[in-house]
Amino acid sequence: MPDVTSKKDVQNLPAVEGDVWADFRQVERLTLALTQSYTHTLGKYSRFFIELENRRFMATHCGGCGKVCAPPRPLCPECLKATNWIELPGTGTLETFSVLHFSPGSNADVAALPTPYIFAYVLLDGASTLFPHLLRAPLEQISLGMRVRVAFSDHPVEHPIHLMYFVPLE
Ligand SMILES: [Zn+2]
Repeated sequence: MPDVTSKKDVQNLPAVEGDVWADFRQVERLTLALTQSYTHTLGKYSRFFIELENRRFMATHCGGCGKVCAPPRPLCPECLKATNWIELPGTGTLETFSVLHFSPGSNADVAALPTPYIFAYVLLDGASTLFPHLLRAPLEQISLGMRVRVAFSDHPVEHPIHLMYFVPLE
């Protein structure tokens, strides 16, 4: 049951001459708590997340055209062949980024980040595609083309994608 006592306020909106809804202008507004859990499978992408726990960064390689996808793709987007797993060294180059001043708060891992934080697109060494993820570094240290690497979380996370993030390559 939602907790309706958590926050409640009543407002009387101003009446306007001839307003047919004048008797309905008293508005009660509630803030309700809603908690929902569900089971979500990571499917063919599972190994990527399992290996993050082992501090390994995996991608997929297409034996047909040679494309390396990071994030992984079970099917090659170029030639539609089934791919195979390969490990990448986890170093790469910052291609573009956004500075986010607001957190969506929809994920505990992201909600815990201080703002502003950086959402980066990284071309990992050995990969053909850009990998979007968080880059943890002071804003004044960020520049396009800078070298970065994958770092692994030492803390429990809500979603396994947050077992990793990018940091500047020292
Ligand atoms: Zn291919």
